[in-house]
Parts: sequence; structure tokens; C-alpha cells
Amino acid sequence: MPKTMQAAVVEAFGKPLVLQEWLVPSPGPGQIVVKTEACGVCHTDVHAARGDWPVKPAPPFIPGHEGIGVVAAIGAGVTVVREGDRVGVPWLYSACGHCEYCLSAWETVCAQAEFGGYTKNGGFAEYILADPDYVAHIPAGLSATEAAPIICAGITTYKGLKQTNARPGEWVAISGAGGLGHLAIQYAKAMGLLVCAVDIDAGKLDHARRLGADVVVDARHGDPAATVKEATGGGAHGVLITAPSLGAFAQGVAMTRKRGTCVLVGLPPGEFPLPLFDVVANCISVTGSFVGTRKDMAEALAFAAAGRVRADIEIQTLSTINETLGRLERGEVPSRVVIDFGGVGQGGRG
Ligand code: NAD
Ligand code: ZN
Ligand code: ZN
Repeated sequence: MPKTMQAAVVEAFGKPLVLQEWLVPSPGPGQIVVKTEACGVCHTDVHAARGDWPVKPAPPFIPGHEGIGVVAAIGAGVTVVREGDRVGVPWLYSACGHCEYCLSAWETVCAQAEFGGYTKNGGFAEYILADPDYVAHIPAGLSATEAAPIICAGITTYKGLKQTNARPGEWVAISGAGGLGHLAIQYAKAMGLLVCAVDIDAGKLDHARRLGADVVVDARHGDPAATVKEATGGGAHGVLITAPSLGAFAQGVAMTRKRGTCVLVGLPPGEFPLPLFDVVANCISVTGSFVGTRKDMAEALAFAAAGRVRADIEIQTLSTINETLGRLERGEVPSRVVIDFGGVGQGGRG
């Protein structure tokens, strides 16, 4: 392996990422090093680079939590993956494995969890140090660029939809039809749900319709909650809010059917008002959802491998990362940008 690698680094919050040569990490006991083939760019990378959230990463750090690549080196004692395996290094980088949450398959909320591209260096680099117990195992037949968005945008929306408890034939409203939302629409259709897609961009809404949304609602016009309620005969049984905009949250709660569940996934910094009377009197559940477990990951990837969900990707290079983050911030990325590292070329379609 080479000694140095190219990486896009956050040196200070709110400043452009800097392309630097860093030492290629070497795997300690129980660790692996992955040679990056592709890495998706999530809106969370924008929040990370801006230091938007109360729990902050410590610059300098390398963002990116949709990194896919092949195992290039393994440390002592590693048995779950082999050199040459294609894996993904996701947001849930590692967890303790022993606490009440880990034991009950809620490792996503483990107090000792580490986060890829946040508390640990991530996929905006040619190599990634990873914990083999928490990497995603990429099914044969799925290329690195196709798999990348699934390991954050895909798993997060797949899990979030499950958290709505909506059943086949029932309605879900998906607020935000971008990187997460365009996959949420496809998962929802594959799960037999009726989909109402909500966005503030005409292009995203056209795309949502092409992906199978039964109804689309432009939240810039009129009263979007009333429109959803009318279209769904009383509100969506499940609402999934992926929009990185606070305004979408109060609207999402108002779109929820009586006894329905509104799942919060988008993470714009701040707070939003919850209308107590409506939530109480309509017996609405409002719940957060944070990526997904390793089991959710395998399921989310299986949908993609079977061709039932397909990420719409725009290929870019690492050198355009600041432009990509700026476009995401302005809502100008049609679906998902994936950085292609020009690969190891291990088959897969596409
Ligand atoms: P994105 O920029 O690709 O997509 C966001 C979409 O929301 C865009 O289509 C935009 O037009 C739309 N939008 C903006 N304002 C809106 C509004 N008021 N109403 C309806 N739609 C609106 O972003 P993304 O990568 O899909 O990420 C979305 C959010 O989800 C980010 O805040 C990100 O941090 C968060 N996220 C959370 C988790 C989790 O585990 N909870 C995981 C991944 C991402
Ligand atoms: Zn993400
Ligand atoms: Zn734990």
C-alpha cells in the first residue's frame, strides 16, 4: 500500500474542506483498512463541516459515511472479513457491544458509539480505518457507487419507514425528496405503501413521481398539511421527515393521521414547536429515528441487490467536494452525489 493518501479534511467549522496528503492508516489489532472505491455525500456532511449539532466532531477530521471499498489490510485477530471483501464504512462506525442497547439490537443509541466521518475519520479519503464488526457487507452484484447511498440514505429511510408502523396499502408522507427521500419513496413502494412525496423543488417532485410517488405536494404553495390530509383521506398513517428544514417538522406532524406516527429523521439545527393539543387529542406518536442497526443494513442492501431500490447517482471526484457540499446546502443536488475514487474495479453492475 502507498504511504500517503489524498483526503478532504475539515480543518475548521464553516470553512471549505482542504485537500491534503495524509498517512495511510495501518490496522491495529481488531481493525481493518479499506481502500475506498466510492463515497456518497450526505447532507449530514454539511452539518458536520459546519459544526451544526450540539455534539461536535473535533477538527481536523475527514467526513464521509457512505464509503465503500475493498478490504486492503487486516489487523491481528480479524476473522469476520478477508482481504478483498467489499465492505461499507457507515455512520455507525462501532459500538460497545455490551450495554442494554447493544444487547437489544439498538446499537445505534449505544453511549459509546462512534460515528464514521464524524468522531472517526471517514470516506472522503483514499483509505479508511474501520471496525470489521460494524462494516456493511456489500452483496455481490451491487457496484460500489450504487451501494454507497444505501449505507446511509438507504438504511436510514428504510428503518424510518419501519418505525412509522404503516402497513401495506396505508399512506406514508415523505417530506424531503432528496438524497434520503428519493430512496424512501422506493423503499415505501417496495413495502406496499401508498406514497405522498412533499418537497419545495419542482424538479425533485417530478423525480418523485417518476420513482412511483402516488401523490406529490409542493410545500411552497397553500397549506401542505391540509393538501396531504385531503389526498390521503385524513392524513398519512406514517410520516417520514427527511427535510433539513425546521419548517417541514411542524408541517409533518400536522400531516399525520389520527393515531399515526411521525418519524423525525432530518437534522437541521434547532427546535420546532409541537402543537400539544393536536398531538394529544389525535393520539399521534412523534419519534426520532437514527440510521439503523447492522440487521437493518443487511435488509436495506438486499432491496438494492434485488433491484427493487436503486439510488440515482451523480458521479463526482473528491476534488469537487466543496462545490458538492455547497450545492447540497442550497438544495441543488437532484438525488445523491457519489465520489468515485477511480477504483479497484471489482465487478458489480453499473
Ligand atoms: P438532501 O439535501 O439531499 O435532501 C433534502 C431535501 O429536502 C431536498 O430535496 C430539499 O429540496 C428538501 N427540502 C428542503 N426544505 C424542505 C421543506 N421545507 N419541505 C419539504 N422538503 C424540503 O439531504 P439528505 O442527504 O437527504 O439529508 C436530509 C437530512 O437528513 C439532513 O438533515 C441529514 O443530516 C439528515 N440525516 C439524518 C439521518 C438519521 O439517521 N436521522 C441520516 C442521514 C441524514
Ligand atoms: Zn448520512
Ligand atoms: Zn453499547
